[in-house]
Amino acid sequence: MGSKEQKREKALPAVLYLVIPCFNEEEVLEETARELLAVMTAMTDTGLIGPKSRILFVDDGSMDRTWEILEKLGKSSPLVSALRLRANAGHQNALYAGLMEAKDCCHMSISMDADLQDDPALIPAMVEKFYEGNDIVYAVRKSRRGEGLFKRASAFGFYRFMKALGGPMPKDCGDFRLMSREAMEALSLFGENRPVLRGLAPLLGFPSAQVIFDRRSRRRGRSKYSVKSMMRFAVDGVVSFSAAPIHLIFFLGIGLFLAAGGYLLYTAGREPGVRQILGTIWAAAGLVLMGIGAVGQYVVRIWREVTGRPRYFVRERLGEYAGGDEGEEECR
Ligand code: UDP
Ligand code: MG
Repeated sequence: MGSKEQKREKALPAVLYLVIPCFNEEEVLEETARELLAVMTAMTDTGLIGPKSRILFVDDGSMDRTWEILEKLGKSSPLVSALRLRANAGHQNALYAGLMEAKDCCHMSISMDADLQDDPALIPAMVEKFYEGNDIVYAVRKSRRGEGLFKRASAFGFYRFMKALGGPMPKDCGDFRLMSREAMEALSLFGENRPVLRGLAPLLGFPSAQVIFDRRSRRRGRSKYSVKSMMRFAVDGVVSFSAAPIHLIFFLGIGLFLAAGGYLLYTAGREPGVRQILGTIWAAAGLVLMGIGAVGQYVVRIWREVTGRPRYFVRERLGEYAGGDEGEEECR
């Protein structure tokens, strides 16, 4: 993984924000908060992180009791803060909203799922890597327990396909990731309408490290990614970082044109069979549609960027959160 800059050791104790996007997570939130609070308190007690560290939940327009539970958690612990979006902005935009909120209050953030799939026990090891001078620490999945065969197989295929296309996405990294304030500031310069954060992070060019973990199964509730939204995310991933499909189709078109020309010359004067003609027409039509579809994916992305619509709206905030250096800056 690219570590283009010189590593610089960081001063102890830094302020950590855990950023957790939540969409209809009423079933698991209390348990998640309990586990995360235990890890945060242990790290604060040993002086690994500063006392202004927080857990920042982002309610991504949930329709269930998610916000109500967050309000309750906020009352019972000063470490809990939350950001509520007006409507469902999608996982990536919700996470981005949280990171943008956190970047002015902390020295580092760790983003993770609300469902405890990303093991909280890994957090101290990621923080250690930050102090060693890494601005980004990726948690790489060694295994994915409790996820369906389709999900595992499609994820396996997706990361390898992306690598083959020359995309920057690190293999088997989800969004369980530590980012320094500097890295988040660099990320804030990307104004993409549908960001694919796991692909953008390596583009920032900061020193980075990895920790390896076994991904657990979702503790409660169901995945918020349907097969359709997973496919959409995969297309976003490809189209955001690679023009290879267009080049591929282009060269395939040239190849087909040459082959067809050669075949016509070769069979000149012979009586063609109806089946061959039909087969050829269908194959060619399929190829043309595929080409238009591939181009269309990029056009859709261009259209989204051109309209430049806001990606999310903040409805309210919960908790008094302020970080950075002692007294130097208040969050709000
Ligand atoms: N999520 C979100 N908005 C959405 C979909 C998901 O904030 O529109 C959150 C969700 O609550 C979870 C994280 O994003 O914390 C990842 O989603 P999920 O765990 O359902 O995905 P999976 O791990 O199954 O890929
Ligand atoms: Mg999950």
